[in-house]
Amino acid sequence: MSKSAAFIPPGATLGVLGGGQLGRMFAQAAQSAGYGVAVLEADEAAPAAQVTGIHLAARYDDPLALDQLAHDCAAVTVEFENIPAHSMQWLESRVPLAPAPQALAVCQDRAQEKALFARLGVPCAPHAVLAASGGLGAVSTELFPGILKTARLGYDGKGQITVQTAADLPAAWAALGGVDCVLEKKLDLAYELSVVMARGRDGCSVLYEPQQNLHRDGILFASFSPGAPITPDIAEAAQNAAATVAEGLDYVGVLCVEFFALRDGRLLANEIAPRPHNSGHHTIDSCTVSQFELQWRTLVNAPLLAPRQHSATVMLNLLGDLWFDATGQQREPDWATVLAQPGAHLHLYGKHAPRKGRKMGHLTCTAATPAEARQTALHACTILGLEPF
Ligand code: ADP
Ligand code: MG
Repeated sequence: MSKSAAFIPPGATLGVLGGGQLGRMFAQAAQSAGYGVAVLEADEAAPAAQVTGIHLAARYDDPLALDQLAHDCAAVTVEFENIPAHSMQWLESRVPLAPAPQALAVCQDRAQEKALFARLGVPCAPHAVLAASGGLGAVSTELFPGILKTARLGYDGKGQITVQTAADLPAAWAALGGVDCVLEKKLDLAYELSVVMARGRDGCSVLYEPQQNLHRDGILFASFSPGAPITPDIAEAAQNAAATVAEGLDYVGVLCVEFFALRDGRLLANEIAPRPHNSGHHTIDSCTVSQFELQWRTLVNAPLLAPRQHSATVMLNLLGDLWFDATGQQREPDWATVLAQPGAHLHLYGKHAPRKGRKMGHLTCTAATPAEARQTALHACTILGLEPF
């Protein structure tokens, strides 16, 4: 598609590939500005399918459904990085698409992400690429203890195994199916952070301040914005690195770069999400422009207004675990008490079957100060039975 940046006015239909919560929140944001939304998603009951006017219930590579999407939509985006490359290429030749297939391909593959970081001079973890076709060559002992990660399809800590020594590597690799992998040195993290940003077709970018991210069992547990340990220097370095990545990919759309802040003071890039990110959900309630509004703005070639954060916030993920009591009996969390907390904003994704580790929703606690937001979030933890942070 050409870089024509003609404004697509409200009333047009925007398409999204993928029907999860990110697609749902994209749709809700776009709809509130008067756009129609079409979602391509096989699952009839998917979170985004529940809220969009047009639901194409088909696989991401279904030719008829892709044809319908290209026909119905003025522009198309993704909420999920693992859209098949040929679907993306097919769409790109028929409808404005953001992000572009090439950018998505890099973000689908940890090995390619690492190569991009190296090419752009963005520091990342020491690592080795294990190619399924190549067999196990000599791997530097420097990388142990390490974390072996599948190059593709991993999320929420899935597709990862900690490997203590070189002797444990063959078994770990076999356990991951012998697929293409990246072995990363296990780092001594002081904390984690991420930068969400958007870049338009005209090359102009806007960035949020980084948020601090706390993971439990490889899944995001909470995001803090502002994040107490993030110094102005680290914030600037992280924003510069994210902007460098977006430029390097000639990226159009919303992008998130996750980072590790090490105890020795270094900042290393971890991975790239070519879409709005869980750690940016707070922007719905804490900023003048949310990450989902930026996503539709990039799609319709509207100006990307610099978001201003008006509230301090702590976001808590609501995993399916909350729907079970200590004996394993299913229950409904005490929403009435949660909703009585000033500054608590409840977001549930309409998923019907709670499962442990499944992201069912999130709770954003906003306040005038970080300390107050923290208090509200801690109180919510008590109400919900979450271990405090
Ligand atoms: P994904 O988010 O796709 O599951 P990540 O690579 O971001 O995969 O890993 C998930 C989490 O695991 C990270 O946010 C971090 O908490 C931890 N982790 C990942 N890689 C390392 C590493 N090299 N050293 C220390 N901790 C890590
Ligand atoms: Mg991650």
